[in-house]
Amino acid sequence: MAETDKITENMFQSILNRCPVGIAVIDYDGIFVTVNPEYCSIYGYTPAQMLGQSFTMVFPEETRAPVLAKHQHFLDEGGRLGGEWTVVRHDGIVLTVWTESVPFPRATGGADRLVYVLNITEQKRNQEQMRIAATVYETSHDAIMVTDAENRLIAVNPAFTRVTGYDFADVSGSHPDIFNAANQEDCLYRDMWRRLHEDSFWIGEVWDRRKNGEPYLKELTLTVVRDLTGKVQNYVGVFSDITERKKNEELIWRQANYDAVTGLPNRHMFHDRLEVTAQQVLRSGQNMALLLIDLDHFKEVNDSLGHNAGDTLLAEVAHRIMRCVRGVDTIARLGGDEFAVIIPELNRPEQAERIARTLLASLSQSFSFEGEAMFVTASIGIAIFPHDSASLEGLLRNADQAMYAAKAAGRNCFSYFTPALQEAALNRMHISNDLRRAISGSQFQVYYQPIVHLHSGRVVKAEALLRWNHPRNGIIEPMRFIPVAEDTGLILQLGDWVAHQAIEQLALWCRSYDPAFQMSINLSPVQFRRNDFSNMDWVRELETRRLEKDALTIEITEGLLLNAEPRVNDNLMHFHEAGIQVAIDDFGTGYSSLAYLQKFDIDYLKIDRSFVEDIDGVGLDLCEAMVVMAHRLGLEVVAEGVETRHQRDMLTEMGCDYAQGFLYSHAVPARAFTSMLETTPVM
Ligand code: C2E
Ligand code: MG
Ligand code: MG
Repeated sequence: MAETDKITENMFQSILNRCPVGIAVIDYDGIFVTVNPEYCSIYGYTPAQMLGQSFTMVFPEETRAPVLAKHQHFLDEGGRLGGEWTVVRHDGIVLTVWTESVPFPRATGGADRLVYVLNITEQKRNQEQMRIAATVYETSHDAIMVTDAENRLIAVNPAFTRVTGYDFADVSGSHPDIFNAANQEDCLYRDMWRRLHEDSFWIGEVWDRRKNGEPYLKELTLTVVRDLTGKVQNYVGVFSDITERKKNEELIWRQANYDAVTGLPNRHMFHDRLEVTAQQVLRSGQNMALLLIDLDHFKEVNDSLGHNAGDTLLAEVAHRIMRCVRGVDTIARLGGDEFAVIIPELNRPEQAERIARTLLASLSQSFSFEGEAMFVTASIGIAIFPHDSASLEGLLRNADQAMYAAKAAGRNCFSYFTPALQEAALNRMHISNDLRRAISGSQFQVYYQPIVHLHSGRVVKAEALLRWNHPRNGIIEPMRFIPVAEDTGLILQLGDWVAHQAIEQLALWCRSYDPAFQMSINLSPVQFRRNDFSNMDWVRELETRRLEKDALTIEITEGLLLNAEPRVNDNLMHFHEAGIQVAIDDFGTGYSSLAYLQKFDIDYLKIDRSFVEDIDGVGLDLCEAMVVMAHRLGLEVVAEGVETRHQRDMLTEMGCDYAQGFLYSHAVPARAFTSMLETTPVM
């Protein structure tokens, strides 16, 4: 063999050995004549295992014969034979290979075939994946849009066009914010971009607009596609139109939580609200009232007029209940003819009672159905949380029990669960009933208590204090009936009456005793808020009786000035302009803000009797502080509840101006007061 042939042969061998393509030579019978390492490695055999074997060894059993026939056919015919084959590796793993064979003339004459093989299993698999992905993309129900790194649209799928109405041509290169509905909040997008930067992923609900302008709600998933270096390549958005689904969910939620007849929350929602309100109440340390309202004899309406009438009535009842409560209160229909009201932020039990009373009054008005008048009443049970029960089941039971008590008491009334509250309520109710009669039946009388000028010991003023001479119960203290008169509004009439009495009496004492004599009357906050004193007939009365205007002082409490509404402000102005003086009663028991003493031009400060009572304790410093402060602000001071000489002396010493109390006299009828003035004008 020539030297060059030798080199060629070596070179050929080393090419075969290193070539990354599988190469084999196969003879006519299909027997391997040569195999290179890559060929063996593709099939997982050693060269020894392959050489001398039929090349069909790597084919599945059933294809071996046809493959060999094809091989021989092509050997006969000549030409290239190429294609993809499914073969089985030595370890049983199925591969896809691409082979091509060409005739390979043998030195000894005749021809073998030279075969080269590429393992394309991986590519095949990828291709398949791509095909599946493309199918999904094309056929997906969800809309898909892809944007580039600058967030410009570069692809959309058919579902996108179906949902939005936009073809790719319409939106290609656009920024997806062209779809946004105007009412979307900015913070949603801010949150979205933040999440995309941090997690490369965001899911949420967004309102967008279709091409035809119609808004729709979509559930959108956004994913950021990054390259190996982490740089953003694409944003992929997948979304579906959930407008209908949302609507249905809302409908289902409404049906589950609201009553169809009245539109009120149902029992389910009621329990939720009760729970939430109870939590709030516990946090704030307040009380909450639960009112259970059961219509009396509702079944008869249903039975006699039919269910239509029944439903109409229930809806109207719901309406009336709504008008009787505040926005923060919850009303619910618990079922049948049973309603509930939750009253949070309850300061006094009477608040619940007032609502119950208004409810009863409102429901007792006739209802009209198809031109006919219907009447219905209700029984109301009131339980207070956490006062009556620390658990909500307990509270419901209590309210129920109270409601049955109201039914048993003759219906069309309310009942508290707690006997003491119920008793107090009954008492108030009696008082309220009796009060109306008392006004017309002149059972009231004004008593007067002297106010003494401390320096001179002279009686210079009187405070008018109302007494009720009840035909059965005797004298009733104002503290027991004034709150009821305030609740029922009777205080307006009563207050005017007291003022007229007091002014008339004042005129008498001014004439017969001392022209500079002065009179104090108490005004309820309710009078201040409801009355407009701009056109006060008392002022005219002062004039017609030729009294000095400053002869009259009105006493109000601190609470009125705190957050004073415009009406209160105006009224104070009117008093001030009319020269009528203003005193702060029971000073020191409320908010005691100094700011309003000046702001509202107050003339007197009446130190509450609790401080005077404690004048040998901390009361001393407090009284002194109030006197000094009042004088500094140009106010005079009246000490209330002076019962002992010691108290009087201490107050005199600290410079207090006036004193009032049992030491001098209780409040007494006018006649007794007159004789006191005549006998002991200096005390
Ligand atoms: P007030 O205006 O602070 O009246 C002083 C109360 O203290 C009076 O009670 C009086 O009898 C009592 N008092 C006076 N000196 C002493 C004392 O030395 N020791 C003790 N323990 N008590 C003393 P009264 O007459 O029962 O009136 C209670 C409250 O009812 C009054 O407090 C006032 O707020 C209100 N009131 C009375 N009359 C009227 C009225 O005509 N209209 C309004 N809106 N409220 C009135
Ligand atoms: Mg007073
Ligand atoms: Mg007082």
